[in-house]
Amino acid sequence: MNDRKSELAAGLAAVRERIDRACDAAGRGRTSVTLIVVTKTFPAEDVRLLAELGVRDVAENRDQEAAPKAAACADLSLNWHFVGQLQTNKARSVLSYADFVHSVDRPRLVRALSEAAGASGREIGVLLQVGLGDAAGASGTRGGVAPTALPELADAVAGAERLRLAGVMAVAPLSGAYAGRPSEAFERLREISTGLRAEHPGASMVSAGMSADLEEAVTAGATHVRVGSAVLGHRLRLR
Ligand SMILES: *Cc1c(COP(=O)(O)O)cnc(C)c1O
Repeated sequence: MNDRKSELAAGLAAVRERIDRACDAAGRGRTSVTLIVVTKTFPAEDVRLLAELGVRDVAENRDQEAAPKAAACADLSLNWHFVGQLQTNKARSVLSYADFVHSVDRPRLVRALSEAAGASGREIGVLLQVGLGDAAGASGTRGGVAPTALPELADAVAGAERLRLAGVMAVAPLSGAYAGRPSEAFERLREISTGLRAEHPGASMVSAGMSADLEEAVTAGATHVRVGSAVLGHRLRLR
């Protein structure tokens, strides 16, 4: 193994161990949590090495960076997750490589993705990003739909052609009532997911938890954790 590959192998092993321990502590099966490695700011070569090390799911947050990277890795069997704020004019490009979009937070974006999916002949999984900006339900600065507006947005996705309502996503808020309280934030997300699944049983994905708070997310029922720096190292550019 070259140096970088050993570095990534060590990062992956450490993160997988953290996930396993959190699953054990929560009485959950270890296969109930999928690791998505967030490769933003890192090159396609790293994605290739990660695939060789058994990674099957990767995520990006900017289309300008993700599109060429995914194209360079088109020969690999990977699921590509888009997790960043998304402008409607990027929907077509994102549809050319993404299998899931985690950051759907408004009806206009639903329409744009559905149209792009129709044009490309593909189907994608859609997660609704929930804003947990404050306990009262207003969406926060990290984006996302307010919990009160979520049922209507879910119905829009469910009714849109070629979009599959896959679940919910959240980022632990940096401000507001949940600031510094990721466990409470992720428990709230769990409640929201339970409510959503009562109406849309197929929407079973709960995407929550990053390098700093993946244990809290697993404890609160996350099915997918999105981990970047704990696997790949520090990013040079802050995102
Ligand atoms: C960058 C990013 C992550 C991963 O963050 P780390 O702290 O590096 O693990 C997860 N989710 C989203 C939406 C991101 O933009």
